[in-house]
Amino acid sequence: MTRDWDKLSWVPKMDGDVYCSPACGHGCRRRAYEAAVIAAYELSAELGNDWMPEVWEGDGWHWRVTKGLAKLSPIKCSGGYQITFNAHGRQFTAVAPTALQAIRSVQNQCTTAINRMSADLGGIACPK
Ligand SMILES: [Zn+2]
Repeated sequence: MTRDWDKLSWVPKMDGDVYCSPACGHGCRRRAYEAAVIAAYELSAELGNDWMPEVWEGDGWHWRVTKGLAKLSPIKCSGGYQITFNAHGRQFTAVAPTALQAIRSVQNQCTTAINRMSADLGGIACPK
């Protein structure tokens, strides 16, 4: 017997080639789930250094890798990667053909911002 609140469950169920939760209802495929898991784990292993895989469902299966304040995701339409780095009220983002290029780009953005803030901070110093 299915209760109404069972329809809100985000626990995926296997039904042949379908692996989808009732709350999603998209008819997600088991093959898509497996591909997402493999891609997430492969990239986290490639990056090493505590990058963690994440896989989730919502109108399909999705994946990314995360580390600290950074979230690195594939861009399905272009094959590249997007990274967001939310740091202390500021968000830095980058898009690049490879994961490493995206990481380096956002690192460069942060370094530039830190250097500018440091220079601006020095500019408001008061003489004694
Ligand atoms: Zn689904």
